[in-house]
Amino acid sequence: MKLEQYQITECSCPECISYCRKRPGWFRPQEIAPLAEFLDLIIEETFQKYLILDWWGEDKIYLLSPVKDFDKLLYSKDPLKRELASLYLESNELLGRDCDRAGSYASFAYAFVHAPCVFLRGEKCSIYPARPFECKVTWHENDKSIKNIRKLIAGEWKQSKLLERLDLFDEFKRPVSRKNYDCP
Ligand code: SF4
Repeated sequence: MKLEQYQITECSCPECISYCRKRPGWFRPQEIAPLAEFLDLIIEETFQKYLILDWWGEDKIYLLSPVKDFDKLLYSKDPLKRELASLYLESNELLGRDCDRAGSYASFAYAFVHAPCVFLRGEKCSIYPARPFECKVTWHENDKSIKNIRKLIAGEWKQSKLLERLDLFDEFKRPVSRKNYDCP
């Protein structure tokens, strides 16, 4: 099935929101410019403030996604979530890893740690008209469809030149953080 064949939904039921609290959906490459426009930022600033370089598969196809906001967990009412978030952030710091935050790249562990999307405000998506394709179609799909959608989105990123333009890799094609980008 192609991406265009999946039905776009406008649903924001508790099940959908529960995904927003666990793992943000993935953008298609052509959705990044409209997102930046929606936020009234340039693409580089959008990445620095809100996105992360996530990846798919053993070959690591890189793509952009809203970052998980671990700080929100630090203020969670649930003590276990607070503890987990703080341990996770501390371990990154101890290991000297400059990853898993906006303007950076996702570590191997990132996919396995649940945290709310940076764009979730209360129970609402703050970029709803510019939300990622995956958010528009997947939350009520089964696991097989979600996997297929992610695979197809990753395939589009593999063809895209956007990440090259954003200069997110070093000379060895390893992802690098954009910490020093002068973001207002
Ligand atoms: S972008 Fe919006 S819809 Fe998608 S996960 Fe984030 S808050 Fe939810």
